[in-house]
Amino acid sequence: MKTVYLNTLTGSNFEVLCQEIFSQYYKSPVENMPLVNDKGRDLIIHAPDGDIFVECKHHPRSSIGRPVVQKLHSAMVTENISRGMIVTTGHFSKEAVNHISVNKLPIDLIDQDRLKEIAYGVGYMLLLSELDDKSGAMQYIPPENEEIFKDHLSSFIGSRILSYPNSISSELVIEQKKSILVPFYKVEYDVNATFSTSVGLIHTENRSDTIYLNQQDLALCSNSFSKHFPASSFKHYDPAADMTCIDKSSSEPTMNELTKNAYEYIIQKHTKNVSYVGRNNQSYTKTCTPSKKDILIKDIAHVYIPHSDVEFLLHNRKKNISLAENNTSSFFVANENFLNCEICHSKVSPGLLCNDCGAIVHVSKKKSHGLKCSFCEKTICISCAGYFRKYLFFKKPVCSSCAIERKLKTKKYKIL
Ligand SMILES: [Zn+2]
Ligand SMILES: [Zn+2]
Ligand SMILES: [Zn+2]
Repeated sequence: MKTVYLNTLTGSNFEVLCQEIFSQYYKSPVENMPLVNDKGRDLIIHAPDGDIFVECKHHPRSSIGRPVVQKLHSAMVTENISRGMIVTTGHFSKEAVNHISVNKLPIDLIDQDRLKEIAYGVGYMLLLSELDDKSGAMQYIPPENEEIFKDHLSSFIGSRILSYPNSISSELVIEQKKSILVPFYKVEYDVNATFSTSVGLIHTENRSDTIYLNQQDLALCSNSFSKHFPASSFKHYDPAADMTCIDKSSSEPTMNELTKNAYEYIIQKHTKNVSYVGRNNQSYTKTCTPSKKDILIKDIAHVYIPHSDVEFLLHNRKKNISLAENNTSSFFVANENFLNCEICHSKVSPGLLCNDCGAIVHVSKKKSHGLKCSFCEKTICISCAGYFRKYLFFKKPVCSSCAIERKLKTKKYKIL
């Protein structure tokens, strides 16, 4: 398998690459046309059932529009050629795709994903970028500034913790946020495997997916981690950005180590035990393990994810959280101990913020450690609550200020 980094190719390098790939794919000679005056086609595949005109467009980050289709089509008409193909390292615009289907043009559109598949079949691993960051190919999630982060953190807390009358956002003060950019490898792949026994097809494994490997030890990141970082959350490296917080404590693996690990994880992840009924009506279980050739690694990117340790105040009480930022309020949380009830230490879901003392406590139907004042609805913890009896039997919680205001006689607030 030969690895080619698309971002490092020039336009004419790319034509030569396509020439090599298609000559093997079609097992036919492929002619590379002179660069000047190529008359709207870059390659001619001399396939056994007729010539195919090929236009190669090396624009990894842009889309190919209708004019390119029209130009190739007129070249085909002029030279009486019945098949055409446009190959791009980018993708095609809707207009280009529609133009072909509406006019039923005999032109195949090969985008980056399809090209990677074809190339893989004839021994080429096409990757977008070299893993070397100096090529400008690194992708990262910029750590958020405090103002935006405060919004995200308060909606994260607000969705779990009730607070009244003061809202979480008015009670939240970010004291300190330390972020480092931690390196990972993002591996995008397709798996396409079928499993048969003497009774026929018993299982197919067919999907596109992404896994993350930690650069530190090439360990596989959990599914819940990966879910938080879709491809769209990454930005391309901006030379003007502050990159002083990159974590440089681990060294980069070689491409071989990386792909070897990636294949193992992918195979593991898609190995399933499948039960089926045999011809003799007995039940069997077969372990269906995809092989390396069922897997197409479409891209490996070096990505940096900000890990932040945050100290903050809620109602003047110090708390902290560790998280991996993804520029949303549903970030990946590594340590959320502050969401444990301060009285019984059980996880709060939901919980409330005591608007008297700042404690976070759990709320449940029985034995709740969080209450609402019967008069003002203030959220309070049981340590801050006083009780009074309304009709002989029912104990009602009350906050300190309402107890004083109403001169209630409670056990806690000995006021008359
Ligand atoms: Zn509790
Ligand atoms: Zn309290
Ligand atoms: Zn009250």
